[in-house]
Amino acid sequence: MLIQTAKNIYFRLRRIMPPMVRGASTRMLHYCRFKPTVNKKASGYFAKGTVVFSADFEMAWAYRYSKTIADFEAMARREREQVPKLLTLFADLDIPVTWATVGHLFLKECSKNKSGLTHDEMTRPPHFSNEHWRFDHGDWYQHDPGTDLLENPEWYAPDLIRMIKDAHQRNEIACHTFSHIDFSYKNCPKELALAELSVCKRLAAESGCELTSMVFPGGTAGNYESLKELGFTCYRKKAPFDIDVPKIDKLGLVSIPSGLGLDRDAYGWSADFHIRKFRKILEYASKNRQLCSFWFHPSMDPWYFENVMPKILQIVNERVRSGDLLVQTMSELARNVSANEFHN
Ligand SMILES: [Zn+2]
Ligand SMILES: [Zn+2]
Repeated sequence: MLIQTAKNIYFRLRRIMPPMVRGASTRMLHYCRFKPTVNKKASGYFAKGTVVFSADFEMAWAYRYSKTIADFEAMARREREQVPKLLTLFADLDIPVTWATVGHLFLKECSKNKSGLTHDEMTRPPHFSNEHWRFDHGDWYQHDPGTDLLENPEWYAPDLIRMIKDAHQRNEIACHTFSHIDFSYKNCPKELALAELSVCKRLAAESGCELTSMVFPGGTAGNYESLKELGFTCYRKKAPFDIDVPKIDKLGLVSIPSGLGLDRDAYGWSADFHIRKFRKILEYASKNRQLCSFWFHPSMDPWYFENVMPKILQIVNERVRSGDLLVQTMSELARNVSANEFHN
């Protein structure tokens, strides 16, 4: 009771702390061993500690209605530059990744109709605003250039999808909706959810992949029934602890904890601190035989990409080789959880 009250007060205070103070307080929690947090009730869930890496692969689609990032095409160009480097880095260390891919990226071209709009066939979301995006005027596809990969490589990426599949035989292509919509019940009617998922499944199948895992854009979880209807088996969703376990929901879908986002922080943390924090999460996951899940944007800050990513992936590789950790993709993990009928 007392601990819970202290926690509530801390989380309330955090909301009003300036970023540097917030960063320092998180660092302090790590040094004092209050973080990373572990779901103690589920200790020993797996045969060994398990790691999942997932990438939100979206190019310009993710940021076009962003409240904070104005130059969405610049983000896409950075992503285009970093994806091949990330693929090499992960493949050299034999680490498979689940690439949650915006469906439009399967296309090598698309075109505009007489009114200048693209994708007549697609259902449009109603105007909305959420934590990350504001779509309050015009057509949902108004930024889509309606050209091709050569002219506007920020909006199409079949070449990169091919590279992802070729880089590691266990790399998984997952779904991130067709046009990076808000997938919550509030902002996504069922008809829209089904339309987005169906076109993603079709495009993926045409390029030889079966989509069974879902990553909700901007964490906008919802429309689980539509996922079930279209044969998905799992999704990624925020969980209460840094190190936690998957849950089987009431529809039989596996909910995989999101875990930690990998990118530069707003607090000025050093590369050493990032690495130390990461190492500790692996240690705790291995000790408690639970899951540590890591997600990232391939457009991550180049500083983090150069100074942190190679080192943390090296650590994963060493721990996997020493036999105390296992890396799985989302669909592999979902199969494992369902087959063993883990319920918690
Ligand atoms: Zn298009
Ligand atoms: Zn996204």
